[in-house]
Amino acid sequence: MNREDFPMLEKEYIYFNNASTAYKSKKVIDSIVDYYNNYSVNINRGIDSLGYSVTEKYEGTRKKVANLLNVKKSEIVFTRGTTDSINLATSYLESILEEGDEVLVSNEEHHAIFVTMQQLCIRKKIIFRVVDFEDLVNNINEKTKVVATSHITNVLGKRSEIEKISNMKEKFNFLFLLDGAQGIVHENLDLEKLSIDFYAFSGHKLYGPMGVGVLYSKHFDKMSPITFGGEMVDIVDTYETTFKKAPYKFEAGTMMVPEVIALGEAIDYILSIGYEKINSHIFELRKYLIEEMKKIEGLNIYNEEQIKSNLITFNFKGLHSHDIATFLDKNKIIVRAGHHCAAPLMKKLNEPSTIRISLGLYNTLDECQKLVNVLKNKEGYLDVIF
Ligand code: PLP
Repeated sequence: MNREDFPMLEKEYIYFNNASTAYKSKKVIDSIVDYYNNYSVNINRGIDSLGYSVTEKYEGTRKKVANLLNVKKSEIVFTRGTTDSINLATSYLESILEEGDEVLVSNEEHHAIFVTMQQLCIRKKIIFRVVDFEDLVNNINEKTKVVATSHITNVLGKRSEIEKISNMKEKFNFLFLLDGAQGIVHENLDLEKLSIDFYAFSGHKLYGPMGVGVLYSKHFDKMSPITFGGEMVDIVDTYETTFKKAPYKFEAGTMMVPEVIALGEAIDYILSIGYEKINSHIFELRKYLIEEMKKIEGLNIYNEEQIKSNLITFNFKGLHSHDIATFLDKNKIIVRAGHHCAAPLMKKLNEPSTIRISLGLYNTLDECQKLVNVLKNKEGYLDVIF
């Protein structure tokens, strides 16, 4: 599928670490180069025509993100990434939560959610309730003030019961914070229909640039900025300052202009192929890999169910995940080994680390076959270890 669009694929590596960061298409890269070569000025500042045209491009991406999620432009703030977005959302939670309130998370979250909520709870003396991912919905009750979870989890690729949680908000009146870092790669949620208070994602996992992310919310008008400086202000007086309306009051100082513009290119690229086509390709490859990997002796897959995911997480009996990853690397195959920023899940699996294969839209059956063949080569691992 469109491999010539991705310059990194010309290298000798087979890349199965797309959940960490995906390769960038030529269009995304060209867009950044084009910015520096042809209209390298700041947004919002100048009264010049070049400045206006850059601002227009920057705001054009905001419109594309808003369209993608079916929300208003004013409900989209650009950040550095998912982590940054979750921290901005947390500033609002911090301002309204009171001692004794409960924040509910699952034990399969990325640290971006887990640690941020944990630290919020410590600071505010709030109850931090960690439950099994499968039990999240059953644990929502009158005491729950925040449910913070992943659209799709980053190790086992499980989709949260988003629709159910959204429907429960009316009855239980909690805030719903959803981490879309892995989910946005598979689907664009309709945030006008769903009741989600905060939705965060990063550009770089969506085949877009590093250093840019998105936070969606309908609460921005009630929220105070947490970063102060240029461009986010309205009137500055000696002892008082008023701020611009959202989203601008949250975008202080010089923003990552070329990256925001290139994020727009990445969204265009995904939509030009279509989520359905990308998903069916990836799910087919995953199915093949699961079937073949199941046959390999000593290989234990933690998510072998036929879920709609690009992730396969596994270990080899008696071998450390880092040794397997090193061996794969010697064969020019890149995977991820470690705790995947999901230490609570590792505790649940009773493993210090795992190996994760994450498929991207450009991976091929041929690459998957090569991976299977290398994994079958038991003697090879021993060469690496000893
Ligand atoms: N949440 C999930 C589910 C992730 O997979 C990741 C990245 O791996 C993050 C959050 C953090 O994203 P970023 O490092 O782009 O802020």
